[in-house]
Parts: sequence; C-alpha cells; structure tokens
Amino acid sequence: MTSQSEADRPAGSAEAGDGCAEYLERIVYFLDNELDQADCQQVQLHLDECAPCLRKYDLERTVKAVVARSCSEAAPSGLAERVRMQIRTVQVQITDG
Ligand SMILES: [Zn+2]
Repeated sequence: MTSQSEADRPAGSAEAGDGCAEYLERIVYFLDNELDQADCQQVQLHLDECAPCLRKYDLERTVKAVVARSCSEAAPSGLAERVRMQIRTVQVQITDG
C-alpha cells in the first residue's frame, strides 16, 4: 500500500499542511518538555521540514522566555493581581461583545 496523499498535495506549498494543526497543539507541550521521547522526535522532525510550524515554535519559545524572565524577577505582589484583573476584564468584554 502506498500513500495516496502524496500525489494530491500541491507541490511547494508554504501554507500549513493538513497535519499541522495536530503538531501546533503538540508544540506547546514540546516546549514544556511534556512529550514522550517518541512524540518529541515526531515534532522535531516536523519542525525541520515545516517552516510555518517552525515560526510558530520560535514565537512560542520567545514568549515563554520573556514570561519566564519576568517571573524570575519576582514581580511585586500587586502586579500579579492587577494582571489577573485585566485578564478578567478582557474576558468579560469578549463575553459581552
Ligand atoms: Zn507544520
């Protein structure tokens, strides 16, 4: 049995492919080191050959690094509460919207 999808796929497409949604979900876990070794390898392989997913991975990793850095700098106790309030406000706006 050979794979049918090979022939149907447009060549040289820069858009995210069919399997990408699944990988994009896993990239979050991949960044948190919450994947099995086998899954890690699959994600790594996909990132090697899929530019859109690699960009997404880079973005997530940058955001994570910035958040980690600001957390380790021990934000003043009031700040976390303020951020939480803001998130809640935005959520309410979205719900009302
Ligand atoms: Zn992809």
